Amino acid sequence: MNTEVLQGACHCGRVRFEVRTAVEPASRCNCSLCRRKGALMTPSFPADDLKILDGREALTLYQFNTRVAKHYFCKHCGIYTFHQTRMDPRLWRVNIGCLEGVDPYTLSASVTDGASSSVVEGA
Ligand SMILES: [Zn+2]
Repeated sequence: MNTEVLQGACHCGRVRFEVRTAVEPASRCNCSLCRRKGALMTPSFPADDLKILDGREALTLYQFNTRVAKHYFCKHCGIYTFHQTRMDPRLWRVNIGCLEGVDPYTLSASVTDGASSSVVEGA
């Protein structure tokens, strides 16, 4: 895993961030939320490696099921930018599609079995 510092933004550009992470192995998740948003995610990285540069007030938080994971979206353009993981709240992942200079369609991705790790059935 090669970590690098990458710039990221939501679609409307209100939310801007900088992250130190690898982009591979990229993954998708099959939980009920990720199945709907369809985003390719970076490997997880420690919270300190994500810096929100701008637009903190544009972010909105969505939680469901165990309400441990924190899924952040831009409330203006609706794009999921990053989330704090349920498996380990010290770890975060970002939406690879939000990163400058990275083409998510060139990465091969595995599927994380988030559906089976949900505590509540069907979440
Ligand atoms: Zn936005």
